[in-house]
Amino acid sequence: MLIKNARFVLTPEKTLENKNIVVKDSRIESIGGCDKSEEVIDASNHIVLPGLVNMHTHASMNLLRGVSDDKKLQKWLQEDIWPLEEKLDGEKCYWGAMHAFTEMIKTGTTCFSDMYFFMDKVAEAAEDIGIRGYLGHGMLDLGEEQRRKKDLKKSRKIVKDIGKLSDRINPMVTPHSCETCSDELLLKAREMADRNDIPLHMHLCETHDEVEKLIKERGRRPVEHIKQLGLLDGKFIGAHGVHLTVEDIKTLSKKEASIVHNPCSNMKLTSGVAPVPDMMQKGLNVCLGTDGAASNNNLDMFEEMKFVGLLHKLNASDPTTMPIEDISKLPWTNADMALDRKIGRLEQGYTADLILVDLDYIKMNPVHSPLSNLIYSGAEVDTTIIDGEIVMRNGELTMVDENKIKRKAGEFAEELVSCPHSED
Ligand SMILES: [Zn+2]
Repeated sequence: MLIKNARFVLTPEKTLENKNIVVKDSRIESIGGCDKSEEVIDASNHIVLPGLVNMHTHASMNLLRGVSDDKKLQKWLQEDIWPLEEKLDGEKCYWGAMHAFTEMIKTGTTCFSDMYFFMDKVAEAAEDIGIRGYLGHGMLDLGEEQRRKKDLKKSRKIVKDIGKLSDRINPMVTPHSCETCSDELLLKAREMADRNDIPLHMHLCETHDEVEKLIKERGRRPVEHIKQLGLLDGKFIGAHGVHLTVEDIKTLSKKEASIVHNPCSNMKLTSGVAPVPDMMQKGLNVCLGTDGAASNNNLDMFEEMKFVGLLHKLNASDPTTMPIEDISKLPWTNADMALDRKIGRLEQGYTADLILVDLDYIKMNPVHSPLSNLIYSGAEVDTTIIDGEIVMRNGELTMVDENKIKRKAGEFAEELVSCPHSED
């Protein structure tokens, strides 16, 4: 495939001008070369850049977008989200995930990292639409042995089965959090991740209350707790990291750990401000995620990048905090570091996960700085390529029918909120 004469190519560290990009199979063969391929995409009025990596989300929650606003995390979960999640099934999760992946592809995300339920169906949806993903069954036992056994079994099955689907779909082990998982479950999760050489991804220090509860119940802060259990001895991805102390950051930065920042969800649920500038300064790898559409309420990673800048500048009362060059590390090179997958960069040999952004879009011009426009003005994604395959061309999905996805997801979303609760 030849992406011809791209007006700008964002690598993302450098911005090149008027370059060809040659894609062979699933890789970037060259930047600046030429190719006699039959597949030619004219990019003379586009910015070509690596696809964004959404490192923490719950895709099927797209069905729950807008069901609950204006509450803190615990109240939001207990009163509104958990009762609805009781009624989920495989088919609902499939169409919820399909809806989420449509939104991701249309807003430039080419890879996601997801923990939720019915993940075999979520994997199937990812496979059908052509997106790259990392998935795990969200395990929680609340100290109950039966539940622990059941969730471990589901998790083992996901790890075993979805790795076989394709190279794009990858398993993870995903215990929910220190608060909802017993030490036994956390230990078994680490073992499973190590045995399969895959990452362990969990929520970490999202709220102040959760940290206080753990100190009261187990006598130590979450990071100290998981360190003592050995959870940090291997690839570790912690979502949120809002309430991390200087000591926690030091501990995590010495390990093979990444933190996923979710600024919109953290602001909306008033969970707090994650100390991202401190983390980056101490060398801790920080990635970016949207969290689910029920707490964000969208999966637009360009918007998420804007909020990274706005939140930390305001929090520090300093406009030099989180410059665009730092923000741009989160969804690209730092995600690559967390997943170790040769994604997030336009460079020879890297995976061909890339997007074309339209320069004609009113918010995108004039172009004094392509990166500034992308982060702060809002981008219109025209074409999305994943693993060397065009999954969206000129705004149209190529592998699936977008109208059918919206219709099916709409029907299931309605069914979910209208049918009586299971205890009724
Ligand atoms: Zn989450």
